[in-house]
Amino acid sequence: MTDLTHLTIADALDGLAAKKFSARELTDAHLKKMAALKKLNAYITETPEKAREQADASDKRRAAGGKVGALDGIPLGIKDLFCTEGVQTTAGSHILEGFKPTYESTVTKNLFDAGAVMLGKLNLDEFAMGSSNKTSYYGNVINPWKRRNEDGGCDSTDLVPGGSSGGSSAAVAARIAMAATGTDTGGSIRQPAALTGTVGIKPTYGRCSRWGIVAFASSLDQAGPIARSVEDCAIMLGAMAGHDPKDSTSVEMPVPDFRKGLTGNIKGLRVGIPKEYRVDGMSQEISDLWAKGAEWLKSQGAEIKEISLPHTKYALPTYYIIAPAEASSNLARYDGVRFGLRVPGNSLDEMYELTRAAGFGKEVKRRILIGTYVLSAGYYDAYYLQAQKVRALILKDFTDAFKQVDVILTPSTPSAAFGFHENEGDPVQMYLQDVFTVTVNLAGLPGISVPAGLDAKGLPLGLQMIGRAFDEETLLRSAQVLERAANFTALPAGV
Ligand code: GLN
Repeated sequence: MTDLTHLTIADALDGLAAKKFSARELTDAHLKKMAALKKLNAYITETPEKAREQADASDKRRAAGGKVGALDGIPLGIKDLFCTEGVQTTAGSHILEGFKPTYESTVTKNLFDAGAVMLGKLNLDEFAMGSSNKTSYYGNVINPWKRRNEDGGCDSTDLVPGGSSGGSSAAVAARIAMAATGTDTGGSIRQPAALTGTVGIKPTYGRCSRWGIVAFASSLDQAGPIARSVEDCAIMLGAMAGHDPKDSTSVEMPVPDFRKGLTGNIKGLRVGIPKEYRVDGMSQEISDLWAKGAEWLKSQGAEIKEISLPHTKYALPTYYIIAPAEASSNLARYDGVRFGLRVPGNSLDEMYELTRAAGFGKEVKRRILIGTYVLSAGYYDAYYLQAQKVRALILKDFTDAFKQVDVILTPSTPSAAFGFHENEGDPVQMYLQDVFTVTVNLAGLPGISVPAGLDAKGLPLGLQMIGRAFDEETLLRSAQVLERAANFTALPAGV
């Protein structure tokens, strides 16, 4: 039998329907590979018993010949930011160690209702704050990709898998999950997808319920999938999305059949190339790939237009005011009383202080401090309110642009995967990773990263496409055309 872990979801569903293999065999193949690739540290918690139970139940459903779900028998990894009933949910933080939710997040519930199998909970940057997975309390995740040496051999330097959904991207690239859930507040689905040669889509704000997802910055957070093809992302997103009365920001709109919308036809599609994304110091490789992406779409019948998004340069500073502000408020709930860790003190205040001092890592503390500062009396108007105004201008840039074009094409990241000790010591350098992605969260739009090529060292590079609000169908259809043209078939070594 071929290695089942290399199948796409689409192919695995066909194989399961044709009874070429069982959900149990598919799950066991993944569990076996997970054991062999433990060194990647992609999972914080593995749930093999639950996985086998769900897989057996799926096989029974198929054997009974009844109705099966859209993901029946498909083994997935779940980012450890989604609350899973009875299974430890850490958010990558010490402060939540041992926390076992008594409820299931809506997105994971939707996936399980569709028949999906959970292999375990995936590692991430602490509270989803980061671009490298280095801020996880549970140790960093290793990208399965390695740089190529001058002599064509493999460089031994361990590279980051991106973040914050780095466990998700590494697991999907390493074939230890067929697909995974991610969340994206400023780029955390698209950037790790780009750094691992996988596909990741952040849907429109409101498309997926945030209920039961540990909150980072509530006005920016969205769940979405990381998978190995645009089609698999379409299948996953269809199962994850939908209105949820428990999340007042989830939108009451029907979920289209995203997979059906993948017609391969982009004749007459207008693609915008925003000139402000040509940032200082952009590498020739990234710039060439971007031009190639536009050429590919043009050769399939799209019309390419230069557009302007004039407020782009304010996006990063705006994000790094709004996101920490919301985080400082959301993270106030970790007080040693309600969840996870408690460090006893001589008074209630001392207990709070000791718990939060021991429970949060450095980056999280930095964000809480920044957030508290920008929200404090006297600074609120100067920073937070100002940032909200700029956010409105960034959204207006997109609204104006979408009068002229249907989708926008940009690079996903300013660089390929970097080593653990590169970009170290300077948080701003790390924040720059999100230069092409945060605008999309500030505007609440859908964005997707598609693997488009390799850099000179043999590492994957991604291209991003941005769509109109709630028009994931056009976005996925264009992304699939790009994916086919790029024909990215490279694999990380040893997978
Ligand atoms: N890298 C960004 C940050 O550190 C985005 C994180 C995210 O999207 N969760 O905030």
